[in-house]
Amino acid sequence: MGRLMLTVVDENLTESVFQGEPQPYVGWYLAPVLDWIATHWVALFHEERFGWTERTRLPAAVACRRALDHWVAAGDPLGRETYRRIHAWYHRHGLRSAALGGILPDLFIRRSGDDIELSWTDDPLPFAPDGLIFESKTGHVRLAVRDVAEPLWGLLQWVTSCPPEMSGAYRGNWADLCRKVEALEGLDTMEFKRAHVPETILDSARAGFERIDRLDLFDDRRSENCPVIEEFSPAVAMFGGVSPDLGPTDINALRDALVGGCPGRDGEELASLVESRQGTPLDVPHLDGERFAAALLDDLGELNDDSFVDVRAICTRLGIAIEEIALETDSIRGVALAGEEFSPKIVINSAHAYNSNEDGKRFTIGHELCHILFDRTRARRLAHASGFWAAPGIEKRANAFAAYMLMPRELVIGNLRYVDRIDSEAAGLLADSLHVNETPLVEHLYNIGLIDEFKRDRLRTSIRRR
Ligand SMILES: [Zn+2]
Repeated sequence: MGRLMLTVVDENLTESVFQGEPQPYVGWYLAPVLDWIATHWVALFHEERFGWTERTRLPAAVACRRALDHWVAAGDPLGRETYRRIHAWYHRHGLRSAALGGILPDLFIRRSGDDIELSWTDDPLPFAPDGLIFESKTGHVRLAVRDVAEPLWGLLQWVTSCPPEMSGAYRGNWADLCRKVEALEGLDTMEFKRAHVPETILDSARAGFERIDRLDLFDDRRSENCPVIEEFSPAVAMFGGVSPDLGPTDINALRDALVGGCPGRDGEELASLVESRQGTPLDVPHLDGERFAAALLDDLGELNDDSFVDVRAICTRLGIAIEEIALETDSIRGVALAGEEFSPKIVINSAHAYNSNEDGKRFTIGHELCHILFDRTRARRLAHASGFWAAPGIEKRANAFAAYMLMPRELVIGNLRYVDRIDSEAAGLLADSLHVNETPLVEHLYNIGLIDEFKRDRLRTSIRRR
């Protein structure tokens, strides 16, 4: 038995009221918690993806709780399998799974890029004794890997240096825990990468880099103080966000794109734009997108063409290369590379449906430009594959950015003859003059309040008919 006090930044998650008395800690059996940290250490600090299809941008605590509630009642085999996978993920990341009927805050820990996301809910405890209430409301933060891993590693070190006074089974459990902690120290970084990159991709990608003698792009920065990767290598960062079904040809094509951009660095103007934009936390994606796009157009000042936004010209001005490749997969729309040791580059996958014409490619360029400006890691680097398998939060933000950048409100209104009468012909003409496809245009007109839901549905139908 012991007292556990858990503080995230300045929020005490164990602050509670017990039998009418406030207390800053919880008292319970601590061995299961310590064992849970040691058992799931690698997943806690390196696994980012959910174990199920999750398209929300919610923090893990909320997303996982919702998914568990939603799938628990599934009766069909596929639904039951989904529930099993969600539950397994919960076991690796949710602290309460270690509670054994005990009293723990509902904290979730997972990797998020080169950060650790800590998230918690205020869900009541199912077996709370005498109305124990946790005071913390639902919340989340993202911290540097070392700021989370080092304190928890210190805790494990402390435990292994303190044999329990009791005998028998307790000593046996403690010895098991010591062995687990010791084993973690001896782990190769490949084991950490395995929790981040789909198993099938990792070995094939590593072999690919080895063949061309570029394993340096596969070198992660391991902490000197505890067994974690603080910064993923560019290759691991990129392959951590791709489909597990990616074939060897595509793996090599992405490798070559990465190698082709290295060495290099940001040009002066891009570097100064990035400087003021780093570390902008994810808020509501479409509001972020609007704000970011307006600020960029403002910073860039006069553009070459005032009838539409020439995103290729903007990239040329900022020294961002644009390259096209044809991957076998259509699950990747584009790739963005930038930052430390890389010259900035956007790669367009011509096999993706959105890139079938120039207007669609312009949208992809706008999307990747958002990543280049806003989504670098703490090490100021970016190696990102966009598409269905990438983190949904930053993907939605990049889409919103592209829409607002290519279709600024003044330009939209300036190109319309009658703002209050947008029919399918007017939408078509507007799409032509802005050099965008009609589908994103119609969604955008709705988002900026120029058409209502009814009109949007009619325009959608007329696009489908054509
Ligand atoms: Zn993206």
